[in-house]
Amino acid sequence: MRSVTILGATGSIGESAFDLLMRSGGPDRWRVIALTGGANIARLAQMARALRAEIAVTAYPELLDDLRAALAGSDVRVAAGPAAIVEAADMRADWTLSAIVGAAGLPPGLRVLENGGTLALANKETLVAAGRLVMGTAQRTGARLLPVDSEHSAIFQALGTDNLDHVEAVTITASGGAFRDWPLEKLATATVDQASTHPNWAMGQRITIDSASMFNKALEVIETREFFGVAPDRIKVLVHPESIIHAMVSHRDGGSIAHLGAPDMRHAIGYALHWPERAALPVATLDLAALGSLTFRAPDEIRWPALRIAREVMQAGGAAGAVLNAAKEQALDDFIAGRLRFPDMAAAVEATLAALSARDGFSTPPADLATVLNWDQQARQFAAGWAARNGAR
Ligand code: NAD
Ligand code: MG
Repeated sequence: MRSVTILGATGSIGESAFDLLMRSGGPDRWRVIALTGGANIARLAQMARALRAEIAVTAYPELLDDLRAALAGSDVRVAAGPAAIVEAADMRADWTLSAIVGAAGLPPGLRVLENGGTLALANKETLVAAGRLVMGTAQRTGARLLPVDSEHSAIFQALGTDNLDHVEAVTITASGGAFRDWPLEKLATATVDQASTHPNWAMGQRITIDSASMFNKALEVIETREFFGVAPDRIKVLVHPESIIHAMVSHRDGGSIAHLGAPDMRHAIGYALHWPERAALPVATLDLAALGSLTFRAPDEIRWPALRIAREVMQAGGAAGAVLNAAKEQALDDFIAGRLRFPDMAAAVEATLAALSARDGFSTPPADLATVLNWDQQARQFAAGWAARNGAR
């Protein structure tokens, strides 16, 4: 029986993974080691009972008693807090899904790699904040990383066993998010609710807002760089409102291989779950005739400065990715809390990158988790201060 762990089981990706496990035999087919979640204790307990998990862990120590009560009478053990999540990741599983949102996903994911395990990575922040460390760890221990972000799963599938030397460009697509067609001058009035709707994908709130600002795509460009080792100038972003083509690999001989599919994350999650096999998945087959046409536009860097920031961060190298990720998370918190207007998120991130690079330089990529978290802390602190000084009042 294959054993699996889901970090971030109660989120959007986690729910899709749960659905796939339940539809493919549930606890009779999968030995579920750990499920982790946050504040939604009722759902975490329900999932743990349904999959007969060995342990359920909430990120919040103050919710441990609630979790214990919700799992009373079952064999599921309980634990709470960030350290307990890392301990859960430390329990060996054949396959671990990293589906926590934000830099909080880095410590448990890294632990899986240190143990030489298989990590299916939805948490792109892991690679943005600590790409060198993460890839280096996997290489050292023989751990396997499988992409779950839809664009990266698409690249992984389109690339196959081909050599990067044959690749001219890698293109990832972007729907353009909630404000793709808004007049630019209206962006400053964008509300959290407006930014939290996505034309094609149903996702967690944070990544949905990041799609509207294109910070999600900025992170994914860096994820492409770190995961596949593609040179920054060979990574392209293409606005594709229908979200049917997820990525395309263009070869030097003029041929391009694109990956198409309905915008349903169960494809990428299921592909990683069954890899290297392909399994039947509950994802609609494409009907291109019904769709009629697919459309494309060049990305507009005035509307989406995050794309320019991504290039600058790759150019800077070193710890710039950790700073970008943390500043973006802080700016997003500030936008959600009403302390920053929508376009000011990019301004806050740029100011943080400029200030921290002037302070310490970014020259060396962090070689251990403590160094990444130290940069992360500094960046959050600066970005929060920037928002307090320059934010909406
Ligand atoms: P979500 O907000 O729906 O779920 C996040 C999960 O992480 C929940 O289980 C939550 O309880 C847990 N969590 C939140 N904060 C935590 C913390 N501090 N410590 C421990 N656990 C915590 O997010 P999501 O949309 O499922 O996204 C998860 C990850 O996958 C993100 O990195 C996102 O960028 C990536 N991703 C998501 C999608 C998507 O379709 N939703 C697509 C591609 C990539
Ligand atoms: Mg994606």
